[in-house]
Amino acid sequence: MIKAAGLLSLKLLLTLAVLFVSPPCSAQVKIRIFSKSAPESFIFTAVQGSYLLDHYNGTSVDVPPGKTIIVTRYEGRLAVKSGSSPAWICDSISFRGRTGKDRFSARLHGDKPERREYAGDLSCYPDLGTILMINNTPVGDYIAGVVKAEGGGGRHNEYFKTQSVIARTYMYRHMYKHLQDGYNLCDDVHCQAYFGLTSDPEISAASGLTEGEVIMDADSVLILSAFHSNCGGETAAPENVWLTGQPYLKSIADPHCTNSRNAKWTKTIPLADWTAYLRKSGYTGTLNDPSSLAFVQLTRRSDYSTGKFTVPLRTIRSDFNLRSAFFSVAVADGSVIFRGRGYGHGVGLCQEGAMAMALKGIKYQQIIKFYYTGVIIADVKYAVMPGETDDPPVNSPDEFTESATAGSR
Ligand SMILES: [Zn+2]
Ligand SMILES: [Zn+2]
Repeated sequence: MIKAAGLLSLKLLLTLAVLFVSPPCSAQVKIRIFSKSAPESFIFTAVQGSYLLDHYNGTSVDVPPGKTIIVTRYEGRLAVKSGSSPAWICDSISFRGRTGKDRFSARLHGDKPERREYAGDLSCYPDLGTILMINNTPVGDYIAGVVKAEGGGGRHNEYFKTQSVIARTYMYRHMYKHLQDGYNLCDDVHCQAYFGLTSDPEISAASGLTEGEVIMDADSVLILSAFHSNCGGETAAPENVWLTGQPYLKSIADPHCTNSRNAKWTKTIPLADWTAYLRKSGYTGTLNDPSSLAFVQLTRRSDYSTGKFTVPLRTIRSDFNLRSAFFSVAVADGSVIFRGRGYGHGVGLCQEGAMAMALKGIKYQQIIKFYYTGVIIADVKYAVMPGETDDPPVNSPDEFTESATAGSR
């Protein structure tokens, strides 16, 4: 009886937890923009629609298309200047779109001027030597921008739809990542790379056609939508990369990516460097026969081994900055040659495999279900957020997504 009551209350608690953690189906998301640049000054220009500049001292100013406003950090506050009129000094400002279809550009001063376009509103606050720029943007525009930034070189509608659903899943799963900072996600690889709006109509269409769709596991929990550039023919088990597994992130054979750009790589280092590394890692065996240091990996393994000595392959990958942990080791003429397959951590969706599948006419739902085992694709209103401890313990969250195009990910 007591056990039954306990089970009942546990079920009630779980139901409540599910209710409370359901992600908002909001049409807008708050993104911190230029988060890596730490801007001290920028130029705002209305590009489309019309804006109202509000600097919270009782006045507001119209900003029609073409009008520019310069915002600069000034003694811990903001100095806002338009044309030849004197600057206003204030604690925060917002540019609010008035038509619902408003777009602006933001250009940073500096050695390498950067100009990007955004949709929606912009709020600005002085913060620790920089200006915190928060763009409240429609979700569809944000997703299209992420696909442009993270999508690699793929050019196909089904591929763009695949990446849109992945980016949307990531967004909702990490909606609260920066909540205490006053926004949802940053635009750096810490969250998802986002360099503003894309002008590619095919990417925007793919974001629109998959509106609301996310990937869930069998319990309707939003999945960790990890991806990488190329798996080398076999995706990696997350246990060998992040030390914890997920039922939907299983190692699978991938015949689709083996002729793609990042399918193979080699790297050569002096044999002396390799033997010094092995000694440093605790190898105490003989070095008289270097051929004994050779290692073959036909299917993915977790560790390099020579005799009874082992080192995790993920450690070697990181220490030698290798493209993947899926490599063999050959020894010849005083050198060690790593012959590797794939690019990235290898967990989850393989971008180059997904591109090849799209080109063969395979639909995005099949592509997603090929790489993520036993998942459901449905509207986010049916989704449940994961528990606090569901994410693998990694050094930096950007390790989940390792595209060849979004920098070093
Ligand atoms: Zn972030
Ligand atoms: Zn692959």
